[in-house]
Amino acid sequence: MIATVTDPPFATGLTPWAQTLPKHISPSAAKSYLGCSLKFYFERVACIRKKTPAALHLGKAVHAALQAFHIARWRGADDSPETIANAYELAFLRLERDEGPVNFDDDAEREKCRLDGLRVVAAYLDSPEAMKEKPRAVEVLLKEDIPGLSVPLTGAMDLVEGDFTPVDFKSAAAKPDAANAAFDHEIQLVSYQLLMEAATGESPPSLDLVFLVKTKTPQIIRVKSPPADLHRKRRVTALLETAVEGIASNRHHPQPGMQCSWCQFKNECIAWLPGMTAADARRAA
Ligand code: SF4
Repeated sequence: MIATVTDPPFATGLTPWAQTLPKHISPSAAKSYLGCSLKFYFERVACIRKKTPAALHLGKAVHAALQAFHIARWRGADDSPETIANAYELAFLRLERDEGPVNFDDDAEREKCRLDGLRVVAAYLDSPEAMKEKPRAVEVLLKEDIPGLSVPLTGAMDLVEGDFTPVDFKSAAAKPDAANAAFDHEIQLVSYQLLMEAATGESPPSLDLVFLVKTKTPQIIRVKSPPADLHRKRRVTALLETAVEGIASNRHHPQPGMQCSWCQFKNECIAWLPGMTAADARRAA
């Protein structure tokens, strides 16, 4: 059990919440913390800004276009391919302005990225996976108390289908392996089930991922995962609580692995020593 520190000595220069229980935990924060607690610190505690990777920028713009499509379908509004392509173009520009700069090598790479995203959106709208019926809900934000977790669990589901299946959309560079994809996203998928059961009392019949694959001819691939049994729920709750405990205890250290190949915080990581402050980290950036 973690004690909440109400009046911590902020001698390390960390943001106040980093030395207390976080107000809540989301599956993405937990996955990020468990993947590398030091990278989590640089990104979410010291808040060191880096250029947005081009693939992430494309993924966000595609996500915004799909969101526009699902909301239009839910409202019975204009969901034509032209309107959704326009939503994509606007999101591409808005994200560049509000969350950029984006790490494009040059204008040619930017244009290729823009067109790749447009192709992926068009492929989705043309695929059997494009929602035909009115969805039950779009962009569902939930915050619930879950037994075994010291803080509320939060999550944002992209889409909930009529039979309560939560669907999450992922941009990918290559075709996913179904078994690995479900395992990789276990924290997120099971968290959605926990949230839905707590909020509605309904159990989803399936936990689904829809991959938008940016191959030359884009592919839209749905990966279905069975609903979690008690074992999987306990396992994921324990992982979420491990992240809560680590964040509350201010436990951040390098966790070298494959993820270091694409980490943007190598300089800060090399400079790390126990007791590193946010100011130290920013100086090393
Ligand atoms: S380089 Fe590797 S160990 Fe260091 S912060 Fe990045 S992911 Fe973590």
